[in-house]
Amino acid sequence: MARTDAIVLGAGIVGTSVALHLAKRGLSVALVDRAGVGEQTSYGNAGIIEGNTILPPAFPSDAGALMRIALKRASEANYHLSFLPHVLPWLLAFRAASRPDRLAETAHLIRPLFSRAVAEHEALMAEAGATHYLRKNGWLKIYRGEKSFAALAPEFDLAAKFGLPLQALDTAGGQALEPSLNPVFAHAVFWPEAASVSNPLGVTRAYAARFTALGGIILSGDARSLHRTGNRWRAETNEGALDAAECVVALGPWTPDLLKILGLSLPLAVKRGYHRHFRATGNAGLSRPILDAEVGYLVTPMEQGIRLTTGAEFAARDADPSPAQFDRIMPRARALFPLGEPADGKTWLGSRPCLPDSRPVIGRAPGQAGLWLAVGHAHWGLTLGPATGRMIAEMMAGEPPFCDPAPYRAERFN
Ligand SMILES: Cc1cc2nc3c(=O)[nH]c(=O)nc-3n(C[C@H](O)[C@H](O)[C@H](O)COP(=O)(O)OP(=O)(O)OC[C@H]3O[C@@H](n4cnc5c(N)ncnc54)[C@H](O)[C@@H]3O)c2cc1C
Repeated sequence: MARTDAIVLGAGIVGTSVALHLAKRGLSVALVDRAGVGEQTSYGNAGIIEGNTILPPAFPSDAGALMRIALKRASEANYHLSFLPHVLPWLLAFRAASRPDRLAETAHLIRPLFSRAVAEHEALMAEAGATHYLRKNGWLKIYRGEKSFAALAPEFDLAAKFGLPLQALDTAGGQALEPSLNPVFAHAVFWPEAASVSNPLGVTRAYAARFTALGGIILSGDARSLHRTGNRWRAETNEGALDAAECVVALGPWTPDLLKILGLSLPLAVKRGYHRHFRATGNAGLSRPILDAEVGYLVTPMEQGIRLTTGAEFAARDADPSPAQFDRIMPRARALFPLGEPADGKTWLGSRPCLPDSRPVIGRAPGQAGLWLAVGHAHWGLTLGPATGRMIAEMMAGEPPFCDPAPYRAERFN
């Protein structure tokens, strides 16, 4: 096989963006996946490029909410009882990272990366001919009660500090933006600088096509075949063994499968999530993603229909689907928006790859020369794929990274 400078393992939005940024710097790159480009987690998400993310998702601080989740009466979260002992250490670390002071610290640490999210997508979309997927019309979060809206005060303070615009709206204001919403909410917040896409799979495929146009190759292979040979990394592919001095791991929720073989470990858990597609009734429509904050789901207009995505389910990554949250969500969702018949009758399950401090790992793998990690993007892998790709490529090329990589080092878990 021809000279390869770098192997990228995993062709989700993160790995594909990394591969494209490396190819743009003139490197000879092979992108390896056992499935099709963008067909796993990066296919089924809610399509939000959430560049104005401020606070990460937090462990519930409200005893009532926790009790509802424990009793499996919550619509926003679910769990498999048999899985709890396995995920307990992660949950405790997540709870510790959810203290108000830690959340505020995280907000400051992640801002430089998130602030580039939309611009980095726009740049790649322009060269990949994918701009038609992009909607730069923000997203709307609705709040049914006063308590949940009042709890936003710290986030509004941080938004002002970061210079992020928002509009706090009443019911009529929310309906002015989205006329098909019913007045089941008291408040809405419009975040105009968020963007979204109408087909996340289409976006990743377009970036992959741009990558191959620049000379990159996409191969089928099992990432778990990666091993050292001399001072290089070798992966087995359908076209034979592939050697390179540098290798980037971007395996999303499957990252631990390879790290374990290499003797590395990260506290990576999954928050599973589901989606279903619906038609809208009559002339109803949506222009942008809507978060129903207390109920804990999103509805987003996609090419396939209205995509309804669920919140977190704590269960083993490979356990059978258990989409019980839909039973609790559907009556509330139908009350908000006139969802019609299922568009394709399918229920999709994906796994958000999450670290307990809600920051991805982007940088060198500890103690493994030439190995890089771009993993753990949790709720924001679509958002951060291109920014991560730029950052890794800059570091690998010896250029100064556009933002401080220290918050993303794997060593923070040592
Ligand atoms: C319900 C839901 C809604 C979401 N909504 C949003 C949103 O609105 N905005 C947002 O920014 N993010 C969202 N996310 C999160 C986002 O989808 C993920 O963070 C992102 O897709 C992760 O991308 P990735 O490239 O790391 O992983 P993946 O897309 O899973 O890519 C990993 C790749 O590795 C490959 N692979 C795995 N094991 C092997 C192996 N052994 N050999 C070869 N290849 C292998 C897989 O086939 C896959 O292609 C959501 C997630 C869910 C579940």
